[in-house]
Amino acid sequence: MTDQLEPMPADWQRALAVVAHPDDLEYGCAAAIAGWTDEGREITYVLASRGEAGIDTIEPAKCGPLREQEQRASAAVVGVRTVEFLDHKDGVIEYGTGLRRDIAAAIRKHRPELVITLNHRDTWGGVAWNTPDHQAVGRAVLDAAGDAGNRWIFPELGEQGLQPWDGVRWVAVAGSASPTHAVDATRGLERSIRSLLEHRTYIEVLTDEDPETYCRTFLSGNAEAAAARFGGTPAITFELFRR
Ligand SMILES: [Zn+2]
Repeated sequence: MTDQLEPMPADWQRALAVVAHPDDLEYGCAAAIAGWTDEGREITYVLASRGEAGIDTIEPAKCGPLREQEQRASAAVVGVRTVEFLDHKDGVIEYGTGLRRDIAAAIRKHRPELVITLNHRDTWGGVAWNTPDHQAVGRAVLDAAGDAGNRWIFPELGEQGLQPWDGVRWVAVAGSASPTHAVDATRGLERSIRSLLEHRTYIEVLTDEDPETYCRTFLSGNAEAAAARFGGTPAITFELFRR
């Protein structure tokens, strides 16, 4: 019997999802987001970059605004109305105090109980190497969840009117090779496919496959693969860090 994953905590109202690029949440956990917004929870997206270096055939100055637009459309599909960008440089996002401060500021502003990010580890499991942006942003999110609550770290944020927020109870890491928790993907799965499809420019460059078939195969496959560890229910998995 495979180890079963715990259900995600449900006693929260506000979540903040912070990732490196447009499409990170759509590849990772949009089905879970759709289910949560259905329940009346408030979820905000913060993206460290605009993904402007993500498409070989489109120069960054044109690509950034295009991907921002696609990200806003894809968030709307799963009930997320607020999408903010930190304007770090795609591909060369640096882990450090600048990034931690920007994320801590977002946490203080939105005051979430749950913070969501994408896999910060070196690999996706085995020898599938992760990207430096995901590693930098994921780590900084885990750190900033603590920074946000300490008024002596980044005191300039307090001067800007962003009061400390020590209410983050969990950081949930999507796409982890070592998940601990999961949430039912079935309610949000169709919308997560449409949400990923909104990144059409990116996907059309990425694959020759029909975009909808590509999105459906990828997202359904992942959710079904997790079912064995979640009582047979297709699921989105997270590695949950408690605070
Ligand atoms: Zn990414």
